[in-house]
Amino acid sequence: AAKSVGGDRWTWFDPIMDQLAAEDAVLGADLMRAIGRDELFMLYQPIVELPHGKFAGVEALVRWRHPEHGLISPAVFIPLAERSGYILELGRWVLEQVVRQAADWQREYGDRAPEKVSVNISARQLQEPGFAAEMAALLAREGVDVRGLVAEVTETAVLGTGTALDAVKALNALGLRVALDDFGTGQSSLSLLVNCPVQILKVDKSFVDGVTTDSPQAVIVDSLITITQGLRIEAVAEGVETAEQAERLHRVGYRLAQGFHFARPLPAEDVVLLFDQDGAGDGQSGQREKTTSLFRS
Ligand code: C2E
Ligand code: MG
Ligand code: MG
Ligand code: MG
Repeated sequence: AAKSVGGDRWTWFDPIMDQLAAEDAVLGADLMRAIGRDELFMLYQPIVELPHGKFAGVEALVRWRHPEHGLISPAVFIPLAERSGYILELGRWVLEQVVRQAADWQREYGDRAPEKVSVNISARQLQEPGFAAEMAALLAREGVDVRGLVAEVTETAVLGTGTALDAVKALNALGLRVALDDFGTGQSSLSLLVNCPVQILKVDKSFVDGVTTDSPQAVIVDSLITITQGLRIEAVAEGVETAEQAERLHRVGYRLAQGFHFARPLPAEDVVLLFDQDGAGDGQSGQREKTTSLFRS
């Protein structure tokens, strides 16, 4: 417990913090057994084209079904895994699942498979020497078309060290596309867009939330389109929850979006049901109906 509390003696002697740290340690120990006990699984949230929600790709999101506590959010257990270092093993497991899934979809569905399958990579993974080499070995083993894979990394991860930046370049060299996730919420620096070779920028939900209001967030969402178009990188609006937001985003130039308005994270079997929407040309009405009814589960 002492390790996760840190060096601050005040914190250490605070009984509530101490209790939290103890729970942290227990949960951390549970997490280290989660892979072996088959408690982790992946869901895939569709990324869609605006304005009609045509299926364009997916983001893989890990889930943990704890035997006593039920579903635990990755917002809780990913930071926990990062603190303990277990993220390296967890991250490796996630990558294997996702790359295998992408390869299966490519084999079974060819052109109808998702154009892009995105996977989140944590800072610790990026900073691990040999990460890109490990990735290369995995890609070769699974025989996946790497052009369909996207590595999502955060600003903070890439700003952290030269190793992380090198890893991003190495992923690019392997043929993967790299997305800057939660853009605008980390230690944002526009120089990152100059120095770091990313192909996709994911505009954080906290900005998208304000897009229909007269707010600084809306101004930022608008401006990011100018920047991404100028740099020829793709923009994805995250956390779109309403039709009004989707319409506004489309109007200011966003082509891609992700959010509960279109689809929640889904099991792989359910994602497959969306592949055919792609062949539906620009037929609008039925498509939107189909997506919404399927997604509201
Ligand atoms: P993220 O990468 O930014 O993923 C998007 C998160 O926003 C997901 O939460 C998704 O369910 C949620 N989301 C999508 N649309 C909406 C919406 O319209 N409204 C709201 N309120 N939320 C929406 P999730 O799955 O709980 O994941 C949270 C974070 O945990 C992720 O944020 C990512 O940073 C991390 N994470 C998840 N899976 C993995 C993984 O496999 N590896 C690593 N390293 N991190 C992961
Ligand atoms: Mg992400
Ligand atoms: Mg994100
Ligand atoms: Mg986010």
